[in-house]
Amino acid sequence: MSRFINNRLKDFKAYIPGEQPTDLEYIKLNTNESPYPPSPGVIKAINEGEINKLNLYPNPDAKKLIRKIAEFYDVSPNNVVVGNGSDELLAFAFFAFFEKGVCFPDITYGFYPVYAELYNVPYSLIPLRDDLSVGVSDYVGIGKNIVIANPNAPTGTTLEPFDIEEIVKSNPDHLVLVDEAYIDFGGVSAIPLTKKYDNLLVIHTYSKARSMAGARLAYGVANEALISDLKMMKYSFNPYNVNRLTQEAGFAALEEADYYRKNNNEIIKTREYTRECLLELGFEMTSSKANFLFAKFRGINGEDLYLKLKDKGILVRHWDKPRISDYVRISIGTREQMEKLVEAIKEILGGA
Ligand SMILES: *Cc1c(COP(=O)(O)O)cnc(C)c1O
Repeated sequence: MSRFINNRLKDFKAYIPGEQPTDLEYIKLNTNESPYPPSPGVIKAINEGEINKLNLYPNPDAKKLIRKIAEFYDVSPNNVVVGNGSDELLAFAFFAFFEKGVCFPDITYGFYPVYAELYNVPYSLIPLRDDLSVGVSDYVGIGKNIVIANPNAPTGTTLEPFDIEEIVKSNPDHLVLVDEAYIDFGGVSAIPLTKKYDNLLVIHTYSKARSMAGARLAYGVANEALISDLKMMKYSFNPYNVNRLTQEAGFAALEEADYYRKNNNEIIKTREYTRECLLELGFEMTSSKANFLFAKFRGINGEDLYLKLKDKGILVRHWDKPRISDYVRISIGTREQMEKLVEAIKEILGGA
């Protein structure tokens, strides 16, 4: 740390992303990336012609992309903002809307408390139920701003739009931010509710279900006033936040929705296959509608399992945190990768 650091940041604890090691070719089941490449149209869109334009700034309004996203979700372009990954849109929202405080589950996406700390936002943690699900009634009429990841991460449990509506409707003077990073793996989006409620902001990312984690693209959908606040944040921070290649890629991906639907259905099938295998071996799991499983085994602690899998060339994610240190989160890869995972776990449990 330098002697120039802002006093407030002296003991600051930054977010720690999942490891991306380069020493070995691991089977990467630790950061919920898609095992499938982007669709052919995306690869075509990032062509030489577009690359040759990298001397020019991208369109700061990302007009073409935003129009496409709006059309896809049957909303107006004024209801859509794009960001450099959902992490950026979350950062904008925490700064723009949560001055008076926010609440979210005790076990959820690790970036929420980091943004709260960074922007001096007071926050309270609402414990998940004993079964690690989000307790809807805990949020109904709570009278606070709320952030919910739906499906929740790293637990995978998922609320229905009906539940989200209860929470939104009962907190009319507070903002409810629903982070739907994993919604395309079996959940139902709350985006249609943004037409009915002016206190709901839904954020989606291209990182998981659209195979573009490396391109950094996400969007928020909400009523016009909320979107214009987020655009104000963007224009005060980084007007060119979504680069030229990513704008084209994001557009092309929406033209090939079938490709992603097929891949996501495959991931869902592989998730259920993996779940059955792990249950058979004696694992306990939450019921996940995301592209990962959150699992524990009574005979081995989470950290041990994580380390032993790493030794065998398979990366999963483990947190040394209260309530979840027994668990590992396993991203769903291809069927072949998951078969290797199950084999490796069998060897570990058998003492090999
Ligand atoms: C992966 C993830 C994100 C981050 O997505 P990016 O768009 O890659 O920044 C946001 N929220 C949750 C819950 C996630 O799991």
